[in-house]
Amino acid sequence: MSYDKISVPENGEQITYDEEADELNVPDDPIIPIIHGDGIGKDVGPAAQKVLEAAANATGRNIEWMRVYAGESAREKYDENLPDDTVEAIKEFNVAIKGPLTTPVGAGFRSLNVALRKTLDLYANVRPTYHLDGVPSPVKNPSAMDMVTFRENTEDVYAGIEWEAGTDEVQQVKEFVEEEMGYDSTIHDGPVGIGVKPITEFGSKRLVREAIDYAIENDRDSVTLVHKGNIMKFTEGAFRDWGYEVAEEEYSEDVITEDTLWDEYDGEAPEGKLVVKDRIADNMLQQQLTRTSDYDVIATMNLNGDYMSDAAGAQIGGLGIAPGANFGESRCLAEPVHGSAPKHAGKDKANPTAMILSGRLMLEYMGWKDAGKLVRDAVEETISSGQVTYDLERQIEGGTKLSTSEYAEAVVERIEELA
Ligand code: NAP
Repeated sequence: MSYDKISVPENGEQITYDEEADELNVPDDPIIPIIHGDGIGKDVGPAAQKVLEAAANATGRNIEWMRVYAGESAREKYDENLPDDTVEAIKEFNVAIKGPLTTPVGAGFRSLNVALRKTLDLYANVRPTYHLDGVPSPVKNPSAMDMVTFRENTEDVYAGIEWEAGTDEVQQVKEFVEEEMGYDSTIHDGPVGIGVKPITEFGSKRLVREAIDYAIENDRDSVTLVHKGNIMKFTEGAFRDWGYEVAEEEYSEDVITEDTLWDEYDGEAPEGKLVVKDRIADNMLQQQLTRTSDYDVIATMNLNGDYMSDAAGAQIGGLGIAPGANFGESRCLAEPVHGSAPKHAGKDKANPTAMILSGRLMLEYMGWKDAGKLVRDAVEETISSGQVTYDLERQIEGGTKLSTSEYAEAVVERIEELA
């Protein structure tokens, strides 16, 4: 494949996918596409790159980075938001990492993040939330949080099926809903914007499968299906029902439902059984705070997952340290939970930990568990020693405030010491 808008490094090899064996072939010097991102992406992108490279080198490997462009950098270079070459490169090279991309509110172009996830069919947005030693938190017992959220990434109100107030299209949809579908007098008169919330059996089930597989492989205790099915019965309620269907029909050996747990086992799960339960989203948001340790792996839809994982991130120290990654069939695009935080952009100030730890997820996906562990340990030791960026320094006494680049250097030094 040749690209007009990307220089493929001369050295390094491509990560390939062996369909028959259903596994990635990862060379010791893979080419990895990276989008630094908008706003603070320009600070945290290069910082994460340095740290991940150090972890690769410390474990006898090398990463050949391939800069690809989206958002502001693509507009500056190519006068477009998301060049096809960027999407194709992520497809071809299978594993990539990106910083945040800005999305204008109300008007303007649609989210490039959503476009990337949809175009590449990265259907599971996985956001682990765990407490790192030394990180200040607004809650009394932050280490009770060890949750992994599986957020469906291609459907829900994020699907982008919506019509703007005042257009002919919205009028047609309104008339169809009122006249053909019988919802007369349900929508107020006057200007209205209308969106559609598709939740499919296919999308729900493949997401729940990912969550259950992860829970079983990682010896977790429970998977909680989070939904607002009491109100949105045929979308969020259906997600819950399809989730239980997957659990009961495809994992009957490994899984019990919460009802069975209480009816037959008096609340004590038998050894080796994974409990599948469900919670209504508003209740879940308070339970996450008040009964944190009851929750382990979460499977939910796009919007709930977005809200929940930011709130969970706050409990363990804020968005500056909350990592994430998007997964599809044989494909990974790692990205932090946070956005482009424009007011801090270009100041060499933002915390790169979230992007660094997103990179750790990417390394683990590549099978480089040793390099991933080195990254986590080095980050944890750096923070516990009080060397932190502004966001954490303002919450602890006696910490040393480092810039983004100084912090990345400090983590690299730890990696070299620990290796
Ligand atoms: P945001 O960029 O996540 O920033 C909100 C606040 O969180 C910041 O002002 C800062 O708080 C804190 N923060 C976030 N990242 C941080 C970091 N690395 N280090 C330290 N503090 C950090 O959310 P937003 O302001 O709502 O969104 C800005 C833009 O990002 C929007 O265009 C949005 O669409 C986009 N966005 C993109 C993604 C993505 O690319 N996946 C995700 C979310 C949002 P303080 O100022 O209090 O220190």
